[in-house]
Amino acid sequence: MEENKTKLLQEEARLELELTDLGYLNPANPADWTAKADANNMNTADLNNLADADEEQNINRAVVNELEVRLQNVRNALKRIENGTYGKCTNCNKEISTERLAANPAANTCLDCA
Ligand SMILES: [Zn+2]
Repeated sequence: MEENKTKLLQEEARLELELTDLGYLNPANPADWTAKADANNMNTADLNNLADADEEQNINRAVVNELEVRLQNVRNALKRIENGTYGKCTNCNKEISTERLAANPAANTCLDCA
């Protein structure tokens, strides 16, 4: 459990770092990130480059969305550690196997419900 908490905290820090690199945090909502466009591309007036920047922002948005979901899962798992429900399936309330939690400390369902 302690080990999983350490892993979760490390994962949280890593995801936050990646998100800071790719997006802006919404000051009103600490779980909401907006993808930034590549700064270098945005400084040129060249239409092709602008199209590239657009494309790049779309890719960033997809990555940001995925990282956001993972960060949310990690934070939810940390919350469950705090309130003592960590390791229980959020669907059927059975214990999640330690192997599963070791492989994915943010898992919130057992194998049967996954
Ligand atoms: Zn279950």
